[in-house]
Amino acid sequence: MLKKLKICGLKYNNNISDIIDLYPDFIGFIFYDKSPRFVGSNFLAPNTIGISKVGVFVNEKEDNLLKISLKNNLDFVQLHGTESPDYCSNISKYGIKIIKSFGIDNDFSFEEISKYRNYVNYFLFDFKSTLYGGSGKKFSWEKIYDYNLKVPFFLSGGINSNDFDQINNLKIPFFLGIDLNSCFEIKPGLKNIFLLKKFLSRIKEKYLSDNNGLYGFFGGAYIPEMLYNNINNLKNEYNKIIKNKFFKKKIKLLLHNYVGRPSPLFFCKNLSKLYGAKIYLKREDLNHTGSHKINNTIGQALLAKEMGKKNIISETGAGQHGVATATICSLLGLKCTIFMGKVDRKRQIQNVYRMKMLGANIITVNSGSKTLKDSVNEAIRYWINNPECYYMIGSAVGPDPYPRMVSYFQSIISEEIKEQLKESDKLPNYIIACLGGGSNAAGIFYHFLDYESVNLIGVEASGLGVNTNKTAATIKKGSLGVLHGSLTILMQDKYGQILEPYSISAGLDYPGIGPMHANLFYKKRATFISIPDLEAIEAGIELASLEGIIPALESAHALACLKKISFKKNDLVIINLSGRGDKDMDTYIKHIKNQKKNQNQKKNQKKNQNQNQKKKKNKNQNQKK
Ligand SMILES: *Cc1c(COP(=O)(O)O)cnc(C)c1O
Repeated sequence: MLKKLKICGLKYNNNISDIIDLYPDFIGFIFYDKSPRFVGSNFLAPNTIGISKVGVFVNEKEDNLLKISLKNNLDFVQLHGTESPDYCSNISKYGIKIIKSFGIDNDFSFEEISKYRNYVNYFLFDFKSTLYGGSGKKFSWEKIYDYNLKVPFFLSGGINSNDFDQINNLKIPFFLGIDLNSCFEIKPGLKNIFLLKKFLSRIKEKYLSDNNGLYGFFGGAYIPEMLYNNINNLKNEYNKIIKNKFFKKKIKLLLHNYVGRPSPLFFCKNLSKLYGAKIYLKREDLNHTGSHKINNTIGQALLAKEMGKKNIISETGAGQHGVATATICSLLGLKCTIFMGKVDRKRQIQNVYRMKMLGANIITVNSGSKTLKDSVNEAIRYWINNPECYYMIGSAVGPDPYPRMVSYFQSIISEEIKEQLKESDKLPNYIIACLGGGSNAAGIFYHFLDYESVNLIGVEASGLGVNTNKTAATIKKGSLGVLHGSLTILMQDKYGQILEPYSISAGLDYPGIGPMHANLFYKKRATFISIPDLEAIEAGIELASLEGIIPALESAHALACLKKISFKKNDLVIINLSGRGDKDMDTYIKHIKNQKKNQNQKKNQKKNQNQNQKKKKNKNQNQKK
């Protein structure tokens, strides 16, 4: 796999935005007025997060180069003329990072360039022409085996779509990446996005699914024949409508006016001080109905309406998805039936009342562990018998198209974060989210998947501990199998029977994870940590006391992760606060009361000990007298 990609010679604003969406590692603008790709004297480079901006110059006056670099906030200057080592030394003193390029021909000797090595960050090797680049011609890459300096370098000059294999086979130390320019253009400065996309899909790892819901080999649709028509129909309708701008606008409008989006990205001063990093919370708890679940139900309810469906069925664990479903059904005049396990019903009774008031019909599930997985089973069973219903799944699980559809509807979370970070022009170092089925994590990871420098961390619930059988730590304990129509990682016994999961938080109490996360785990793109009940509760109490925010127990698992990572001082950390803690007050209060009781007991014990000691002392003293 190639490490770095640089796309050079950008010029037109719309085209630049499209290129930024491809997430190359570097983009280059040409500030040389004799080039057909010259950006013009009024040009101002856009802010980009995670993409380095390079300005290309040819024998420019030093003060001019400094001015342009400052004005455009450039990360690198690329020197494409006959600039001397002294010239590089001078401008490097201003803290400017340098890429020095050289035209290579058969007579070129790499010894000539060793004088530059202390002043430049990278070299770039191009075909030698009198045009200073963009000629579309290649030099003989064999030559590169003579290179023996320790400065990383780019290959440039006439690289086109057919060069993939040859580039892939160049096994040379310090080969950093490639620079694409003229062979991917419609005309000078206007890049061919279609060609670039195609090329990129070959050289970059892909973390989102294809149109059949495959994430690597995870996902897909392993379904009983009875469901085939339903799923196929849904998939076709979704694939169609998701390209429709009007449909997307409808979703955005409701997210804005009804849910209250964008949700704030809140800087936690006190938490930051405690953990020695810059910690932000994405406040999904402030959404209407109190969690991220509403983002997904709005998308799916609008889709159901488009499909002419009037009956919505769904499952719920913590009741958050049930409430979000009942809410949107009430708003759009749809009939709503919710399956909920008996155990969950008991521990999330407030949400049961809310669903009832919103007009939903609740069916209590008594099978299995009477929790989330069993509710999904019942809902699917009901759907088979009532195919006219729309099944609105609540997490990034199930057969295709559900995982990619739910992930997409939740991706608004990271879309907003990218916008909210624009001012700081910095990528997060860590993104942390709790993981039930994986929808809030998928949503906050989504637009950062391609930025490999961003550490993605998924937090599972380990319940009473991963070594007990009271746990929901799917990745730690699980293995490959099919759950609810999707090939993924799940907890099962040696006969393939699903194990009963356990977590104190009903929203994480699921024996599988969505296929996207299984693939992220397999490809080592994300890290997965598990947190036991007690640590989560304590992290929730800590947030309440430090920042005045009571988190859902699910989100508290993500917060507890702060204790497990050693941060550097300026690390930017974003935690998805997936929901608010109102529904969990009983659990929190029970813990706080127990804590008080224990503290009092200890105090009393000490008191008694002290009194006993005093008595003994007195006795001794009396005896002495
Ligand atoms: C449902 C829920 C979760 C877990 O579900 P995911 O699909 O993994 O996001 C997490 N937090 C809250 C508040 C929830 O309601």
